[in-house]
Amino acid sequence: MKTGYLIDMDGVIYRENQLVSGARDFVRALIARGAPFIFVTNNSAPTPEDLSVRLGHLGLPGLSARHFYTSALNTADFLSETHPGCTVFVLGEGGLLAALHEQKIANDAIHPSYVVVGEGAASWEKLAKAHSCIERGARLLATNPDNWCPVSAEETRPGAGATAAFLEASTGRRAYYLGKPNGYMFHRARRKLAEMAGGTPDQIVMIGDTMETDIRGAIESGLCAYLVLSGSTQLEAVGDYVFQPTRVLQSVADLVEEVQTGQPSSRLDSPVFQHAVASRDRRGSRHRTDGEHVQKPHPRAPMTR
Ligand SMILES: [Mg+2]
Repeated sequence: MKTGYLIDMDGVIYRENQLVSGARDFVRALIARGAPFIFVTNNSAPTPEDLSVRLGHLGLPGLSARHFYTSALNTADFLSETHPGCTVFVLGEGGLLAALHEQKIANDAIHPSYVVVGEGAASWEKLAKAHSCIERGARLLATNPDNWCPVSAEETRPGAGATAAFLEASTGRRAYYLGKPNGYMFHRARRKLAEMAGGTPDQIVMIGDTMETDIRGAIESGLCAYLVLSGSTQLEAVGDYVFQPTRVLQSVADLVEEVQTGQPSSRLDSPVFQHAVASRDRRGSRHRTDGEHVQKPHPRAPMTR
């Protein structure tokens, strides 16, 4: 059976500018076996070329731009498919600007069809301009729903979801959020994977560390969803969600043997997963969609406006 892999990056392949233990062996095994794989990220700031250079510096050389699919590319794909000839006013970084430019989507600060919000610094002037564009009829589109993104174990930065929420509050309009868990992100990532593989693989596995984006989107798109505990999710929180991962792994290291041999590894059902501790330490809503699909209340009230 031919398996294709969609792989989240932060918390799965690296954390705090360090490769996750076993990630190098995992990627090497994928390449050696000729398994099709694409890194799928909600970060709209970098270009695919930036990401290949970054992973090279971290110790994963030999990856090319075709191995990456970002929420910026997804946004440009979405607009070129659903609204050819549209114009945009953009709050975002190079990866988003380049993706839109590649699809020949023009910038328009006067009367754009869309205000597109991505990751990155949003000055007061740009927010005010975006606000005015929306009041004049522009639709509000965000590359991803992340309110905050991890920088280190202790530090976070604001994400595109937080910027979009600012404009939602100031204009009273609701944003549409692309990126994971939006099905359009998975739809286009699958298509890209099939192009790479020369046909749709028998099975597509999404590997991620975040329930609300990676696992939710994969399940809703009919994919296998492997949760790894090397990132943002603690095992004891998994049971709170209505949707559940197909497998729970300590990290991608658990998949190396399986990829190499084509046989499921015996480590996949580690007894460690039977001894969850009932403690939780989670920040307030990470994503704009948080709170819709959990069974238990969050430790903090959801964000209010
Ligand atoms: Mg992640």
